[in-house]
Amino acid sequence: MSNHAYRILVLAGPSGSGKSTLISHLLEHCHDIYFSISTTTRPKRVGEVEGQHYYFVSQEVFERGIGNKQFLEWAKVHGHYYGTSLEPINKALKAGKLVLFDIDVQGHRSVKELYKKATSIFITTKNIHILRQRLEQRRTDSCEVIERRLQTALQEIQEVELFDYVLINEDLELSKKMVLEVAHTLGYKQQMFPKEAFCEAWGGCMRDKG
Ligand code: ADP
Ligand code: 5GP
Repeated sequence: MSNHAYRILVLAGPSGSGKSTLISHLLEHCHDIYFSISTTTRPKRVGEVEGQHYYFVSQEVFERGIGNKQFLEWAKVHGHYYGTSLEPINKALKAGKLVLFDIDVQGHRSVKELYKKATSIFITTKNIHILRQRLEQRRTDSCEVIERRLQTALQEIQEVELFDYVLINEDLELSKKMVLEVAHTLGYKQQMFPKEAFCEAWGGCMRDKG
């Protein structure tokens, strides 16, 4: 685990609730931000780019990665493996970047365990009917896959109280504003200002006076 001053923002919540849309907005508008690109065994969707949306690998390669302790966390979601690689995260944190995760609720629990002061937002729609509409309108998944994602959503909702913030993503412009505001506040979190540096500065003031 990194002892470095860090800014971590986790976006989690049901598939189709708007996480990718909001992440694109954050990437466009925040400086010094690093998006954690996950590795997955799920098939690539039309329009997805290797190394931009995900690293797409076979089950065999993923399981080898688990064996080699490549992942900070990994989980099986909707029947496929998804995992976050440790090395790029540590590098980005050491470089002082804001690290952004789009992970499921199991991944959220793991990240909170490792980085106690990570900040998280649960992104959701008002109800399951709207979620179904969004998944259908996105036109990236079959009916079967959509049904599976809706079933998973009912379980994901049970974890809402483990999050710092909850965003019911209705008005997209308002939601974009909210995530951007939360991201900006992370620059003012206490761990960004190590006590040693403060004491040194204040001690210096006292010495100057004396
Ligand atoms: P996720 O990454 O959580 O699976 P997406 O960002 O892919 O979700 O969003 C799912 C679909 O809903 C996309 O077609 C997206 O354009 C649309 N969408 C996102 N936010 C809103 C919103 N506030 N109102 C209406 N449609 C939205
Ligand atoms: P999708 O297939 O829609 O891209 O993602 C399905 C789910 O997997 C989403 O809830 C997404 O947040 C989650 N997910 C993506 N990457 C990771 C990861 O590295 N770890 C975990 N635990 N979940 C992930």
